[in-house]
Amino acid sequence: MPACDVPDEPGVRIAPLVAVLGGGQLGRMLALAGIPLGLRFRFLDPSPDATAGALGALVVGALGDEAVLAQVTEGATVVTYEWEGVPAAAARLVGATGPPVLPPAAALEVSQDRVHEKELCRRLGIATPAYVTVDDRAVLDRAVKELGFPAVLKTRRGGYDGKGQVVLHAPEDVEGAWLELGGVPLVLEAHVPFDREVSVLAVRDHDGATYCWPLVENHHAGGILRRSIAPAPGLLPSMQAAGELLAGKLLDELGYVGVLAVELFEVGGELLVNELAPRVHNSGHWTIEGSVTSQFENHVRAILGWPLGSTAAVGVSAMVNCVGALPDPRAVLAIPGAHFHDYAKEPRPGRKVGHVTITADDLDELLPRMAQLAGLPGMDVPE
Ligand code: AMP
Repeated sequence: MPACDVPDEPGVRIAPLVAVLGGGQLGRMLALAGIPLGLRFRFLDPSPDATAGALGALVVGALGDEAVLAQVTEGATVVTYEWEGVPAAAARLVGATGPPVLPPAAALEVSQDRVHEKELCRRLGIATPAYVTVDDRAVLDRAVKELGFPAVLKTRRGGYDGKGQVVLHAPEDVEGAWLELGGVPLVLEAHVPFDREVSVLAVRDHDGATYCWPLVENHHAGGILRRSIAPAPGLLPSMQAAGELLAGKLLDELGYVGVLAVELFEVGGELLVNELAPRVHNSGHWTIEGSVTSQFENHVRAILGWPLGSTAAVGVSAMVNCVGALPDPRAVLAIPGAHFHDYAKEPRPGRKVGHVTITADDLDELLPRMAQLAGLPGMDVPE
């Protein structure tokens, strides 16, 4: 029996049990933050090798399987999820019959469909890229005429890390994109000539109080997040306020509890919402060492109804993902301010297997430290 499922001794305090749907690195880092608070964790994942299994009991099964859901959530104080692919119906079922599910299933539902996300944003007066819902080839042709080139054709559901999307540069790209993605509901988006990509990470408690970490600047390559810098260099108070305003509207509308990440395009001083992630997020990993309270700790504090910690940054931080390979920890840790996170996952091309956070007092100190990562295995630091 895994250690975290050992019953508490009679007369001894019963440690709260957090059931997590999904057992990847996000679940692992939730547990790494929650165990010092006295919490126990139990995970549900389709893989017996799920990396979070090192930190709590692991139930192996499909995330939509009612029998295993009942097993993993039984006796839990609260249920959360670390993957937004968890079927919303399953989350609703657990919430209706078992412990509370937070963030609420409504957040899961909306974030699983790119069109629903955009409709929600527009309803709340939050800007998004121009888009057209595409159900068949004729609509795609009309949508291309309406939005022009370049444009991005995406599956409405199930896309992540750049999968399920194709950039259309010219009319001759349309047929190939349709052949690649057609057959499922799609959305065509105008390609945004963004100045940069940023994200806002927010946490909301049971009473509706909301706090945001400083906006983060993100760099992607091949659709995969490679690097974040926090706070976003040159971040103006007005931009921070705009990010906090839109995050607050979304959180309030969804009756949200926990951490929400909103991926944004910054263009001409304006923020457009690209995507919502109703969970802790890769662009918030820097908060472990770079802020007063990490996203992982504040997420578990929020879902348990505990007081939240400050989201203020401490100095500046860079988070660089290890993609497809891990560097030698000794090479990383020789860099001043560097922190190494190994997710204990089998390296495969395009797979996130760890990350490095580098902290510093200011950007002048941070940038040369970051440059020292260049050339190490898995550490592709884009310009
Ligand atoms: P997504 O899966 O929607 O987060 O897209 C992955 C990455 O593709 C984003 O982080 C952007 O770098 C790029 N991208 C997606 N949609 C657009 C868009 N409408 N305009 C410009 N770049 C985009």
